[in-house]
Amino acid sequence: MIQKCIRCGKEYDFDEIIYTCECGGLLEIVYDYEAIKEKVSKETLRKREIGVWRYLEYMPVKDPKKIVTLHEGGTPLYKCDNLAKELGLKELYVKNEGANPTGSFKDRGMTVGVTRANELGVKVVGCASTGNTSASLAAYSARSGKKCIVLLPEGKVALGKLAQAMFYGAKVIQIKGNFDDALEMVRELAEKKLLYLLNSVNPFRLEGQKTIGFEICDQLNWEVPDRVILPVGNAGNISAIWKGFKEFRETGIIDELPKMTGIQAEGAKPIVDAVKKGAKEIIPEEHPETIATAIRIGNPVNAPKALDAIYSSGGTAESVTDEEIIHAQKLLARTEGIFVEPASASSIAGLIKLLDMGVIDRDERIVCITTGHGLKDPDAAIRASEKPIEIECDIKVLEKLLMEL
Ligand SMILES: *Cc1c(COP(=O)(O)O)cnc(C)c1O
Ligand SMILES: [Zn+2]
Repeated sequence: MIQKCIRCGKEYDFDEIIYTCECGGLLEIVYDYEAIKEKVSKETLRKREIGVWRYLEYMPVKDPKKIVTLHEGGTPLYKCDNLAKELGLKELYVKNEGANPTGSFKDRGMTVGVTRANELGVKVVGCASTGNTSASLAAYSARSGKKCIVLLPEGKVALGKLAQAMFYGAKVIQIKGNFDDALEMVRELAEKKLLYLLNSVNPFRLEGQKTIGFEICDQLNWEVPDRVILPVGNAGNISAIWKGFKEFRETGIIDELPKMTGIQAEGAKPIVDAVKKGAKEIIPEEHPETIATAIRIGNPVNAPKALDAIYSSGGTAESVTDEEIIHAQKLLARTEGIFVEPASASSIAGLIKLLDMGVIDRDERIVCITTGHGLKDPDAAIRASEKPIEIECDIKVLEKLLMEL
């Protein structure tokens, strides 16, 4: 296992604490895939409990005794026939990452990231976060007895996420700046070696997140969907999942690859703009704004990896409005009983839009990833709902209401 720059190809020792290459390029973890291929088969994988650690040979861990886990991953892949029918689709699945220990896919990354911190022997970890990263990091640092510092950007933070970060005992600091400012500051602390940085620029987190791709294949009985649709913020997850699919193909578990399709909010869509131009680089959005706070990101750190995932898979990117997001969030809850936070619903909103545009074929086998639980952002859900009806304690009135259902 080594760390390798995706831009200039420079290699770094596995144990070197470094987040980006000297040249500024992003790093990724590279394995000896021939060796993995010899050790792993579909049968050996299936003998283990489903979740991130089912795929141990693909994980950047030297000493399995150092693993910090809350049993992340193994989330349900729901076949959504009601919603498929509503949208005139043949086969639709939702991979519900809200079912992770702290309620988002960030746990898949943190189990690996905090395990790495454990192997390195660091005592303090930190991140800048719009919410779910901090909730997850706070939980895994509690589990492993580390100190945790969390920088939140100015503006609204979803209450569920804030409650988690505070309750797991992290030092939570809100700065008077946006997400990118917060990231800049925490990166400086990491450069001074005052903490181990667990933002999505950290390549080890993405190693955990790639198991979403592994599990989708595993749960489809080693078949590969035509398309995977997911929300894109810092663009780590789309990059990670693409890496997962590629590694499964490289090691002979699957033969095909899905089209990676990223969805952003109208007010924060640098990746979408780049894809529409066929550009290799993004132009950052100075003032990102959307109800979907988890993807309110103007300058996605993993943009180069994400653009590669989209271009080389033959996928695409599209943006959706806040209204479309809320509509999709309700639709998913009311047709399938799956309650997700606004950012997560953008995958469904994007699916609807791309169907209308004729970009997605109704015969495709599609997996939408819902990234976080609905209770993460109770305010957004309540604002989008009708108020409860108030009545006197009168059974007649109640019966009448029942008839109107
Ligand atoms: C972090 C997060 C995203 C965005 O993922 P990226 O890897 O930053 O693109 C989307 N939805 C939810 C719920 C998240 O927590
Ligand atoms: Zn480099």
